[in-house]
Amino acid sequence: MRNLVDQTRILLSFCVLFLFSCVSVPVGAVPESDSPTPLIIRIGLRRALSGQVYLALTTRQAAGQLTDAACSQPVADGPEGSRWTFRLVPGGIEIEKDEAVLGVFPGPIRLDARGGGLIEALSPKVRSPRYRGGIEISVRKSSRKNYLGAVNALPLEEYLYSVLPSEMPLSFHPEALKAQAVVARTYALQHLGRHKADDCDLCDGIHCQSYLGYDAERDKSRAAVDATRGEAIYYGGRLIYAVYSADCGGHTQSNEDGAMSRSAWSYLRAVPDRSDDGPDYCSGSRFHTWSRQFTLYELKRSLNRSPIARVGSLQEMRFLDYDPSGRVKTVELIGSREVKWITGGQFRQIMGGERIPSTLVTLTRLPSNAYRFDGRGFGHGVGFCQHGANGMAAAPQSFRYQDILKHYYQGVEIRPFPGTGSFIETKP
Ligand SMILES: [Zn+2]
Ligand SMILES: [Zn+2]
Repeated sequence: MRNLVDQTRILLSFCVLFLFSCVSVPVGAVPESDSPTPLIIRIGLRRALSGQVYLALTTRQAAGQLTDAACSQPVADGPEGSRWTFRLVPGGIEIEKDEAVLGVFPGPIRLDARGGGLIEALSPKVRSPRYRGGIEISVRKSSRKNYLGAVNALPLEEYLYSVLPSEMPLSFHPEALKAQAVVARTYALQHLGRHKADDCDLCDGIHCQSYLGYDAERDKSRAAVDATRGEAIYYGGRLIYAVYSADCGGHTQSNEDGAMSRSAWSYLRAVPDRSDDGPDYCSGSRFHTWSRQFTLYELKRSLNRSPIARVGSLQEMRFLDYDPSGRVKTVELIGSREVKWITGGQFRQIMGGERIPSTLVTLTRLPSNAYRFDGRGFGHGVGFCQHGANGMAAAPQSFRYQDILKHYYQGVEIRPFPGTGSFIETKP
């Protein structure tokens, strides 16, 4: 019979090799630093990495460090280029470093590139493989199957470097890009914890803001983020809901008319998007004026996709009323079986944004029984108008980004968000 020491050793090696669990360690006081710690944002890589049962990562321009994120305990180090693999197994995540098994961990487990390096995904079918900061891997359970979830934790400002090119063309004026950077930052801050159930703040899809990691960054996006470092938009001391659309068509829409809330928010009022008698600020957009034509049959086929717009065979469509910005409020659908009323927003949603780009639209019944829709703008038109910002920034208007934001968000102030590492932040 083995002695107790041997038994303990066997038990220990079993634990070390096969199943790691956290042992609580006393946490000392964090030393005060002169520079404020940057705010870290957690992005669920739902679109890019999550959902698989196997992931391979490596570090570039930096050594890698693996940490048991459940208890912040270091697990292993590896030089640049080490191959770290994560495989879903019964009991957790089996991890290998350069083909040597480190063990099975319940997760979450986190790989960091030390000293500002990058983490690159080596798994096949990864569209945007490189990330700043750290990547945390955990076991996710769904009703159908278990899979590995991946969360990218990185400083907010570095996240914005990558978000900006997905949200606004980099060919836009630098002041418009700065305005968009402040909008994107405010949106992210206002939505921190939105995906709490998945242990992250935001996702990487268009549901939140499109995020494609380091490979999407460009010099122009980094410049716009750096020039506005830490700045966010406030109304009455609180972060605003920084909504925006591509082209307001020459007049923005109030939030309650855009069906974002029943109550009217003071900073989201409908405003004309032009100087007194000048052209619309957003007139440079290719959607600024548009025209579409559909037969009754085509309209019926599209409307039938939604139960709220199904009226049998469509006989006639009418726009009944408009909001103060000129957007259609009520659409009447007269069918062979019944008559229904839907909102302009619902009509656009059912038809699709490509076919009816905005609800700033008029309707003409043609002698052929087809309908012609003449409209302006693209998107809901509430808040910040992206093409308008570009027009405002360009000569001869030459507005600065702060004035652009104050035009679209009435009565707001722009100031640093505490904890974002802004260099203009003053110490208390
Ligand atoms: Zn999301
Ligand atoms: Zn506009």
